[in-house]
Amino acid sequence: MTRCDLMIRGGDVLDPETPGSSLADHSVVIVDDHIVEVAPRSEAGERWRPRRMIDASGCVIAPGFVDAHVHLSAFLMTPVHYTRANGPSLFGGGAGPEDLVTLVAQMTSMPIPAEVTSTVLRPVFAALLAAGFTSVVDAGGSGLDGIIDAAEQIGIRLATGPSLADMWNHEGEFGRQADSDSLLAGARTFIGRHDRRADGRIRALVSAVETTACTDDLLRGIARLAKDADVPTHVHCLIDESSDALHRKVHGSQPIDRLDETGMLSPRCTAMHVGNADDDAIEVLAASGATVNHNPLGNMMLGWHTMHRRAIPRLLAAGVPIVLGSDYSPSMIPTPFDLMHAALMAHREAGGTDDAIVLEDVVGMATNSGAVMGRPGELGTIRAGQLADLVVLDTSAPHHLGSRHPVPSLALRGRTSDIRTVIVNGAVVVEDGQVTTVDVDQARDDALATLRG
Ligand SMILES: [Zn+2]
Repeated sequence: MTRCDLMIRGGDVLDPETPGSSLADHSVVIVDDHIVEVAPRSEAGERWRPRRMIDASGCVIAPGFVDAHVHLSAFLMTPVHYTRANGPSLFGGGAGPEDLVTLVAQMTSMPIPAEVTSTVLRPVFAALLAAGFTSVVDAGGSGLDGIIDAAEQIGIRLATGPSLADMWNHEGEFGRQADSDSLLAGARTFIGRHDRRADGRIRALVSAVETTACTDDLLRGIARLAKDADVPTHVHCLIDESSDALHRKVHGSQPIDRLDETGMLSPRCTAMHVGNADDDAIEVLAASGATVNHNPLGNMMLGWHTMHRRAIPRLLAAGVPIVLGSDYSPSMIPTPFDLMHAALMAHREAGGTDDAIVLEDVVGMATNSGAVMGRPGELGTIRAGQLADLVVLDTSAPHHLGSRHPVPSLALRGRTSDIRTVIVNGAVVVEDGQVTTVDVDQARDDALATLRG
């Protein structure tokens, strides 16, 4: 018998890399931060003597979920008092791409003290973990030192870093407003300070706010820095018809061509949104090896009218890796189940067919965390050698009535209340549905006091 740190014993193991398949009554064996074996319950029991055992009988064992697109510092805008919307406002409705690009560009350069973001983000990360998210990508904002501090404390996997823009709308003129070299120097320092902290759970990244908001020099510099420092990168792009029209007006070209020519598109890049991609853009993305991030709930809440273009089903058909995100942080914290339901429903309705996206597609998109988290090939499936980011989902509640298989259990029937155990980097951070790394009530009270102050 060999010692191991943790054994999750006897559940139905889902491997999204072999769609539709599952391993019944298998155990997952963990040493340090890695999975070392997935084997039938009795075999694993004979080989390993665990320091800690979690019984998963009657449960699904799945890879941890990822929210690949959240503007974490936007939680500082969480309305403490509800007021009825009376006219256009940024999150109440009526904002166009020119407003949003400018808002995000400014948000990323706003100075926010680290202790403020740390205090506000601790209950947010706790809520994400309790919902089954083991990984989160900061899609651009500020107060990053505090965000990292909160993630280190709460135990979630985080990718965050400077989101750069050197062009935005100032006094009616869309033009260069910042120096790209100094932005890139700041990003390089940030990466040196923070990358691979917390046993590699934190990855630094460098991103472009949005294609329109960056000069060619800046896009080239971001691509070069990401490659030199070996960190992931992302860029908001091809958001909707009006964002691409703005790009053509400002730069005189298609956004996909500038991303391609400046070297931004590569396997380390995640192109965020991409709902307006046409056949040419899909071809370029497929050839580049980039991942695409899709935010069905955010797109629909913001009324972007992109689903009818069917870019996401066509990207899937072209073999482009896709990862789900929420992008709707200020007023709600969606769960992985919300994201999967939204993706299924939106594309089936828009496509006029109930196989526009299938259950295996959304489970894969909800767990495809490797590239976007800067750990390509190490996350998103359950087998020896993978990082141990896992959720154990109890399927004994009445809403799971019917034939048992991990795919419909996750994609259709799962709820946050089913999440029993969450493991990140080999550490148990949710036990019996409760976050173990923080006093959640206290963290919420502290965050509320900070938001009100
Ligand atoms: Zn965004």
